[in-house]
Amino acid sequence: MQRRGSRVNWNRLKTVGLMAAIGFMSALGSAQAESSLVIGTGSVAGVYYPSGGAICRFYELDETPGGGCDVVPTGGSIDNLAGLRDGRFSLVVVQSDWQYYAYTGQPEYEEATAFDSMRSLFSLHSEPFTILARADSGIVNFDDLKGHRVNLGQPGSGQRGTLDVLMASFGWTYDDFQRTSELAPLRQGEALCDYRLDAITYAAGHPNPAILEASQRCDTVLVPVTGDAIDRLLDQKPYYRMVNIPGGLYPGNPDPVQTLGMAATVVTTTQMPEEIAYRIVKAVFENFDTLTRLHPAFASLDPATMVNDGLSAPLHPGARRYYEEVGLL
Ligand code: GLU
Repeated sequence: MQRRGSRVNWNRLKTVGLMAAIGFMSALGSAQAESSLVIGTGSVAGVYYPSGGAICRFYELDETPGGGCDVVPTGGSIDNLAGLRDGRFSLVVVQSDWQYYAYTGQPEYEEATAFDSMRSLFSLHSEPFTILARADSGIVNFDDLKGHRVNLGQPGSGQRGTLDVLMASFGWTYDDFQRTSELAPLRQGEALCDYRLDAITYAAGHPNPAILEASQRCDTVLVPVTGDAIDRLLDQKPYYRMVNIPGGLYPGNPDPVQTLGMAATVVTTTQMPEEIAYRIVKAVFENFDTLTRLHPAFASLDPATMVNDGLSAPLHPGARRYYEEVGLL
């Protein structure tokens, strides 16, 4: 993830929040409507939800009949994989590590069989694993979380799953924390600032409303996730990489902070007709310039990277056809 030189445009972030809220209401309002696409996303406090909104918006610009599209807020990656697998969603946003674990049937993915009918469409923004601590907590690196009160995140979120992977690489269990909670992204800030927690976690693009809300309430620090255990994890699991959370996005956090990162990816299944997958990716890539302006996390997207970064499941044939046509493959 590139460091962005300028400070965040707060009005823009508020607009993004408003767009998310409007999208949420329209998702509820159109729940009865027959829709050809149902996209599983994440919390309205994250970037998956506006990502789904952007995909729907571009897809619906296409005049072809049957272009309806709904965005559904969810708990995150692992809930999305479950909904994609049982047919509630036609496409979902998932962290690249969970795409890999599910497609290849790794033990981390606690289902009986690999999700081998999964197919990739493209990847989106970088998702830094984010730890925000109260400034007076004494927590300055991942190691320091031990013995503290930490929000693990909701079961079903990718963030929670990735925290479990991180903890395993440090040889920790939940007992190594003084206390744990499973609060949703937007509930964490209040608990942090009321001294019920010392640190909160999120794996999402930046800037996002969840970290903004917490860092506006009280004095906070973004905590680096670095060290030998992380280096070993990077050696063993090539779908993780080191990334920076840019400086200046949140009050009290002027400098970039190094941490583990994944990519947000968009996946479907072999059930999706080739023509629909083709139309989705065509709509997104033909509106690429608009996409990069819809959220600051999309500003550094690059089409050549989006067609392969973090994609463990094979490309859907409809997506591949479009990428070949336009020379991206
Ligand atoms: N990466 C998070 C998860 O899978 C979701 C982040 C977001 O909604 O932007 O739980």
